[in-house]
Amino acid sequence: MTDPSPNIDAADSAAIDAVTKRIDAEETISLLQELVRIRSPYFEEAEITTFVYDWLDARGLDPELHQVTEPDIVGFEGNNVIARLSGSGPDAPTLLLNAHMDTVQLVEAWEEDPLSGRIEDGKLYGQGACDMKGGLAGIMVAFEALAAADIELAGDVVFTAVVDEEGPYGLGANQLIRDDIVADCDVAIVTEPGPTLAREDIENPALILGARGRFLHDITVTGEAAHGSQPQTGTNAVVDASRLADALTDIEVGSHEQLGDGSICPLKIEGGSETLSVPEHCRLLVDRHIVIGETEDRVRADAERVVERLDLDSTVDIGFREAPAADVRYGPYVTDADHPLVGALSTAVETVTGDEPAIGYFASVGDFNYFGHRAELPTVIVGPDGENIHGAGEFVYTDEVVDVAHIVAAGCVSLLSA
Ligand SMILES: [Zn+2]
Repeated sequence: MTDPSPNIDAADSAAIDAVTKRIDAEETISLLQELVRIRSPYFEEAEITTFVYDWLDARGLDPELHQVTEPDIVGFEGNNVIARLSGSGPDAPTLLLNAHMDTVQLVEAWEEDPLSGRIEDGKLYGQGACDMKGGLAGIMVAFEALAAADIELAGDVVFTAVVDEEGPYGLGANQLIRDDIVADCDVAIVTEPGPTLAREDIENPALILGARGRFLHDITVTGEAAHGSQPQTGTNAVVDASRLADALTDIEVGSHEQLGDGSICPLKIEGGSETLSVPEHCRLLVDRHIVIGETEDRVRADAERVVERLDLDSTVDIGFREAPAADVRYGPYVTDADHPLVGALSTAVETVTGDEPAIGYFASVGDFNYFGHRAELPTVIVGPDGENIHGAGEFVYTDEVVDVAHIVAAGCVSLLSA
């Protein structure tokens, strides 16, 4: 594309060229349009799974369906799509490419077909266009280009398109970890939207090197019922839960040099009834985003201290939301800026765009937490930007989708070349 970066040797540069010239901008965007036009809110990914599988299969990329099941809480059954390119060097690193195939539920406020894939002024519209079918199209064409180009990679590339990232548990990525699909991986690239969801006010090209983690408190407040005309004779669980919700927001949250501050947000309060009784039960859901160093024990102890201090008449049971297993949680992580993966992607960004990447950190959580925290893989998010993510009018910048495809392909070559 542009002049090769000075940090890159001639052989790598030729290999990067051989791969990136196989990525056609128009084909990439028409693939993205096809992906956007398939309705795929979480738990309803069968059609897009088949599409991604068939697309890879038609190109001789030997995809596999990887079964994802969660029978106990949500009763989900579906499939991830995975494929692997084997490198020539047994000791070379193995690189995981990851994107999710699902979207949020379609938002009602769209003033047009939310699955139109309409392109105007370089913006492609649709629910999930930015989060993250742009990134999905990017890794599909990058993976195809890596396979088709006549180059030698020492390391393996593992392609994973997963289900249920937007759902409550990240079941697709969870299953990759459960079934050891990522056990031999050394690093991960996730093509989620980048700068728009970063803490910092940055723009593409950007590399996102970490993310906060998250706990969800599920708190039960139990009072004592009485006749509502004599509230002093009972213990009002709704009143006590509201006092607790307010007090929890005063917890002193942790802080981290890269990830910033933690945060606490009461999300839901439900309880009582419309009959004239002092409400006996109330449930409180409270989000807590954490940074590195804030453990489950600390988070629980913080909440317990608040309860103690308030000295409520109600009984308070502080739990966390139900999860498929104890390790299914979003932990915080930071990838070292000096890691070779970051170096390879920085070189790729410079080669493709001519600019040095901005560095940022994600404000919220996603499958990348599973790779960065649970699987302990150095993980970098590099994705196309857009706006109105999860909302009406979501769009992605088409040129950034094509850039990301090039950057991923070039980054793989730079890190894994023989
Ligand atoms: Zn996403």
